[in-house]
Amino acid sequence: MKLIDGRKVSEEIYQSLKIEVDKIKSAGGKVPHLAAVLVGNNPASQTYVNAKVKACEQVGFGSTLVKLDESISEIELLAAIQKLNDNTEIDGFIVQLPLPKQINENKVTQAILPQKDVDGFHPTNLGRMVLNLPSYLPATPFGIVKLLEAYEIDTAGKHCVVIGRSHIVGSPMSILLARNSNPGNCTVTLCHSRTQNLSHYTQQADIIIVALGKPYFLKKEMIKEGVVVIDVGISRVESSSTKSGFKLAGDADFDDIAEKCSYITPVPGGVGPMTIASLMFNTLLANRKEIYKD
Ligand code: NAP
Repeated sequence: MKLIDGRKVSEEIYQSLKIEVDKIKSAGGKVPHLAAVLVGNNPASQTYVNAKVKACEQVGFGSTLVKLDESISEIELLAAIQKLNDNTEIDGFIVQLPLPKQINENKVTQAILPQKDVDGFHPTNLGRMVLNLPSYLPATPFGIVKLLEAYEIDTAGKHCVVIGRSHIVGSPMSILLARNSNPGNCTVTLCHSRTQNLSHYTQQADIIIVALGKPYFLKKEMIKEGVVVIDVGISRVESSSTKSGFKLAGDADFDDIAEKCSYITPVPGGVGPMTIASLMFNTLLANRKEIYKD
């Protein structure tokens, strides 16, 4: 079994981004600038946004944090987004989800200029991804693609089972791995809560991407020998071995399955660090206007 080290790969991405920033600076250019919109006081959202701002500092990008009140109206939020669309200093921005109940998330996603949509959630970017055209790829699936690349995991012709069909992880992941590209060219089975006899599919899989949000869900009797397991899940579970009384758990039961896997990502330290690194990478692409050249 080989451990896929997301911290190490993300660190390498940060190093390469720093080098790019230095090159831009010495050529007298404008450094990449990411903005993050945070609505309300959701502690998890605050943590994620802070981590993104910190990552910008680490690589030398500019960053702007737009903090808005929990009670903001949809019209006011759309106006704030329009301002960011119009601001030429800002190359790309994200609106941290989830949003308060009074706000329609779809409307917000669609209000972001596709050229600045570094989260890759806008229908234009998702459509371009499906068509295998240049697009911002959603950060978590993009990070997984980069991990598969970094560890030279052969995907062509392999059977990949994706568990979970969310718009941000499972669905785009299934599309990316089915595309005629490398990594890609998999035969993909996309499973969800209505899938019957899930083990029937996972037992045949060469690669399993597990993203359903249920800690320790994937067990050894569900997988075959030599499978590659990419664990996206992050859940907080009680633990007597930590000071806080909690620890992070993945969707795979690592201790149970690790021996049977050829490669496996740990939680924490696997997919998680790659998500923010991919967002930084997308911000560089936005700065270079590489996706939308026309
Ligand atoms: P989500 O929106 O809640 O989607 C969960 C998916 O899992 C749904 O498609 C659901 O099916 C499916 N599902 C639920 N129970 C199932 C079961 N028993 N068997 C098969 N499928 C089942 O979750 P998400 O946003 O994709 O996140 C998934 C996990 O990844 C969470 O733990 C989240 O915290 C984590 N995550 C991590 C990162 C990272 O950077 N590492 C990023 C994003 C998310 P239905 O569609 O039928 O309901």
